[in-house]
Amino acid sequence: MTPKMTPSDYIAREEKYGAHNYHPLPVVLDRGEGIYVWDVDGKKYFDFLSAYSAVNQGHCHPRIINALTDQAQKLTLTSRAFYNSTLGEFEEYITKYFGYDKVLPMNTGAEADETALKLCRKWAYEKKGVPENEAKIIVCDGNFHGRTITIISMSTDPDSYKGFGPFTPGFVKIPYNDLDALAKELEDPNVAGFLVEPIQGEAGVFVPDEGYLKKAYEMCKEKNVLFIADEVQTGIARTGKLLACDHENVRPDVLILGKAISGGVFPVSAVLADDDIMLVIKPGEHGSTYGGNPLAAKVAIAALDVIKDEKLAENAERLGEIFRNEMKAVESDMIEEVRGKGLLNAIVIKPKNGKTAWDVCVAMKDNGLIAKPTHDHIIRFAPPLVINESELMEAIDIIKKTLAQF
Ligand code: PLP
Repeated sequence: MTPKMTPSDYIAREEKYGAHNYHPLPVVLDRGEGIYVWDVDGKKYFDFLSAYSAVNQGHCHPRIINALTDQAQKLTLTSRAFYNSTLGEFEEYITKYFGYDKVLPMNTGAEADETALKLCRKWAYEKKGVPENEAKIIVCDGNFHGRTITIISMSTDPDSYKGFGPFTPGFVKIPYNDLDALAKELEDPNVAGFLVEPIQGEAGVFVPDEGYLKKAYEMCKEKNVLFIADEVQTGIARTGKLLACDHENVRPDVLILGKAISGGVFPVSAVLADDDIMLVIKPGEHGSTYGGNPLAAKVAIAALDVIKDEKLAENAERLGEIFRNEMKAVESDMIEEVRGKGLLNAIVIKPKNGKTAWDVCVAMKDNGLIAKPTHDHIIRFAPPLVINESELMEAIDIIKKTLAQF
């Protein structure tokens, strides 16, 4: 009989055969259901990362899994060389769901961002009259839009871009949450778009001032510049509304979605826009072999149904308030700040006796809750949105108990 693998064996195997492009918390997960995951030894944890907000509907949601398995037995991939019986259903569903004329389906968040950038540039040349190859797109310091060469060309985080040049030109970087800086750059007639995260997730859950998005949107309109919202992390009910832009009644010209539009079951991403923008891309000019495949279509419809049917935005809004109030009331000299919206929250950790956010996360894991530091000193707390109040209070007790250990 082969001996049972220990968690260290699993970790050593990944280290040996996998590229070292991540630094995971030392826990080896084996199973998930709703808000919980179990490790290979059967120990249960609250999942307070939700795969970076991809699992908003909870792990292995039965409706989404059923959609996946039903479709998997029928037809999985046709490519876009042919029509199929599910893509149109998904396109009609998602455009009506978010209120746009058209959708362009892709797979990952980064691909959807790339799609939006291409769309914006083409629109600039065909509709705005920007001279060929002169279009500029304004982005924000601290942004995170993915890992491709063009996307890291927009990044201000050396971990993301250093050593990967030369970079794609055509981006102008301004401070986040700074309308004066935006106004200044919008004076340039070659500016085609403003790409922004309504809350900067990876940067550490930075919530801009109230009114920032609305004003930025109006300023873009005034200059005939596309307002492009990257809601890959903030969308799909995470911040207490279907979209984070809904908090300010802003309807982006171009909306970028990913992660939770498939509930963590299958990579699905999408770009939504109206005809005057979307139709600048013609056959053969953009695409993806897997983009909009039948499995993705059925999974995404089920995942978005769950968001509405289970009222997950409302739940995130209500429980998010409770979470932040409870955290703000904690007496710990390691908590420097608590911030967030809905169930996308972060605690800024002040190191104590050499102990950092990483040590806090390891101790929380030992106590039955997993979360991950971002940028060394910030811990993001983003449980699946299917969590209820008593479960949240139990999780909060674990966080409090852990902080008290330091
Ligand atoms: N955009 C935002 C705002 C994100 O947070 C992420 C991932 O964290 C991405 C894009 C990239 O998504 P993906 O990892 O699916 O490429």
